[in-house]
Amino acid sequence: MSERLNELDEIRLKDRHGFSQQVSLLKNSVSTTTLTNDQLAHLSLLYAWDKVLSGDFNQALSILEEAAGPDNKQLLLRIQGLKVNIHILSYRYTEAFIGIEQLLKALPSLTNELTYYQVIGQVILLFNNIERYDLAQQLIEQGLKISQASDIRCRLQALGLQGIYKTSDFQHYDASFTDVNSLCEQAEETIFNLLVIRNHMFYLLEQQQYPPVLRLYTDYISQVLNTNYPILNAGFQAAAAEALLKQGDLVAADKLARAAEQSLPTDRHDPAVLASYRVLYLLAQAEGNFNNLLFYGEKRRETELAIAKEKASQQLAYQLATGESRLKEQRIQLLDKDNELLTLERNLYQQQAENRYLFLIIISGFTLLLAVLSYRGLTRSQRFRRLAEFDQLTGISNRHHFYQQANIAAKYCEQNQRPLSVVVFDLDYFKKINDTYGHAMGDWALQQVVACCRNFMRNSDIFGRVGGEEFAIVLPDCTADKAEMLAEICRDAIAAIDTSHFSSPFTLTASFGVSEAAHDGYDISALLDSADKALYKAKDNGRNQVWCSN
Ligand code: GH3
Ligand code: MG
Ligand code: MG
Repeated sequence: MSERLNELDEIRLKDRHGFSQQVSLLKNSVSTTTLTNDQLAHLSLLYAWDKVLSGDFNQALSILEEAAGPDNKQLLLRIQGLKVNIHILSYRYTEAFIGIEQLLKALPSLTNELTYYQVIGQVILLFNNIERYDLAQQLIEQGLKISQASDIRCRLQALGLQGIYKTSDFQHYDASFTDVNSLCEQAEETIFNLLVIRNHMFYLLEQQQYPPVLRLYTDYISQVLNTNYPILNAGFQAAAAEALLKQGDLVAADKLARAAEQSLPTDRHDPAVLASYRVLYLLAQAEGNFNNLLFYGEKRRETELAIAKEKASQQLAYQLATGESRLKEQRIQLLDKDNELLTLERNLYQQQAENRYLFLIIISGFTLLLAVLSYRGLTRSQRFRRLAEFDQLTGISNRHHFYQQANIAAKYCEQNQRPLSVVVFDLDYFKKINDTYGHAMGDWALQQVVACCRNFMRNSDIFGRVGGEEFAIVLPDCTADKAEMLAEICRDAIAAIDTSHFSSPFTLTASFGVSEAAHDGYDISALLDSADKALYKAKDNGRNQVWCSN
């Protein structure tokens, strides 16, 4: 039986159909009482794999939850690893990171190189995605210590390249790329090798090194076409198209860009998609084709937002899964339930991305501006008004606009008999941060504070900068206890802002006050006054805490 299970494991990724048939056959024919614990667990693992391959993640998860605990450590880790994978595939990142934390504890006992890669490869990818290259690198190094097989070494090192690019200088990265490239070529890991080269082409574009991009394209395109992988096709073509465009060869660039568009993958989170839309957008700009400029500008924006949103939810999930994870998660779930879609809807990247596009559109000239305005159904004055409503530094409502919106919300809640709460907060000893580390650092801190708090707000919440380092949030349809929880979450998140990459790290904290209409009435000024008084109590009492007005 054990042999049979191992055989099935072997064909798992090679013959999807045969695997599925044989697993069902085995599952239905075998009497479970005759199996050992390990055999039972192994069978459940394979059965769950079959469900994963057919996209039935929930079923796969319940099979694994019910699986007998095996005595064999490697098997246990594979089961945990598959659970993590399922959480990732179903976008449940908090569970994924909690699972990862448990996995990492068991890591030293993971001594089989293939199992290590199967279980940890995905974790490394996820760490890369949340830009925790330090954690990814540790896992890669450990894997390299136990892996002698060149294919696994190629894959592990390939996963490390992104971190090397982001954290060291280009020369060092360039040398590492050459090493990994030849390692993967020796190991005949074609797909991995081509992925590494594709990413390298994107990095070269960032460095404005166009001729090497075109050389790589010429050298490898026939291999790429043989693989039939859209993310490779589109990636290579888009990168080469951008290089041609930058060198002024519009005709050739256009041809390749169209080819890239033809082979776009369906998963829009892939960098190849963004690269394709970027080059089509740049081409439209160079050709003065306004229709395409709008079309691809919008596509590009959508893709950037999708990628940023995904990343933001992963980063948030990571924060939740570490530290006081459970507690925070429970709070968020509670808030979620009551207020519907609470957190991830709005994320810190959204405003940044929007502002960048707004800027691009504005500098592209007046005719275009008109086209954009009519396209979006907005008048020019409306758009300029929008610019005047938001705080330049942090992107949230400025004081005037905040009051306007807050009054509208208060009136609505009063008329409809809905609860309404207000949270105000003020950074602690902020003057000292400015005085010690400089005004620019102070500005950076203000941006970080806003970005991290916005993570936790709903679309309907009104968030404004009401003073230099004073902020207010109006929460329609939210009672004081929930508002207090939100304040606690923001307080925690601010205190957790990472400054360890600066030469002299410091801690940021803020004090919070909360008020509620049920207690203080629906007048915004009265609510803000009352919350302010609570805030002073928080300050008097030692700062970095939340106080409620009632
Ligand atoms: P407390 O804990 O009592 O609130 O102390 P504090 O130092 O934060 O309070 P105080 O009101 O004395 O100082 C606020 C400081 O915030 C003073 C001002 O220099 C700084 N500040 C206000 N607006 C900005 C800004 O836009 N950028 C920067 N960098 N600093 C700002
Ligand atoms: Mg102040
Ligand atoms: Mg202050």
